[in-house]
Amino acid sequence: MSILKSGPGSTQFLDITGQRFGKLVALNYIGKRLWWCRCDCGKELLRCGKLMRTGKLKSCGCAIKDFNEQRHLKHGHSRAGKETRTYRIWLGMKQRCLNPIFGAHHGRGIRVCESWNNFPQFLADVGECPSDQHSLDRINNDGNYEPGNVRWATSAEQSRNQRCTRMITFKGKTQCLTDWCKELGISKTTFYHRDKRKLTIEQLLAPPRKWRSPLYNHPEVKAAQKGAR
Ligand SMILES: [Zn+2]
Repeated sequence: MSILKSGPGSTQFLDITGQRFGKLVALNYIGKRLWWCRCDCGKELLRCGKLMRTGKLKSCGCAIKDFNEQRHLKHGHSRAGKETRTYRIWLGMKQRCLNPIFGAHHGRGIRVCESWNNFPQFLADVGECPSDQHSLDRINNDGNYEPGNVRWATSAEQSRNQRCTRMITFKGKTQCLTDWCKELGISKTTFYHRDKRKLTIEQLLAPPRKWRSPLYNHPEVKAAQKGAR
């Protein structure tokens, strides 16, 4: 009944003929609150008068399409053939988690958080990849790709965070193998060779021995070396 009342002649009827709402111009009343409209893009279609008046409808739908296209172009990361490193890494992240065949993380149940399915949101949270040496690293390796668990890191920084990294407790301090080697000046190769022999933890992490020839400090050898120069 309110539909009938809202037609021409009723006190509630608002004539919006010729009025503009965003990209839409109301041309004439059809009935049942619907108006025949023309959009700026040239398309003509029916629109509900009330929705237009209250600002809920502003185009034939092309405005939303334009908005999405602009938003897509705005970050400029996904232009075909010129995808940025950040964008490629974002795609790879989704692939690893979502693809049941190639996704290395799929079987481990690691997920990409809902909002990061949207690249601009990912970009806003994580920022751009700082260099070609950096890639995406999860701080907790069993955690998801989500704000707070992800950072840009170089491969050296990442290897320290790998699942296979060995944690070693020595003199009351626990840290990963890479950090121990760095702190004590042992190369990983040295450690590897020591590890194959069954050594104690003290022997494993002992400072590297420098091999010196028994003749190293011999005066005659020194003199000969000086003479050779
Ligand atoms: Zn349109």
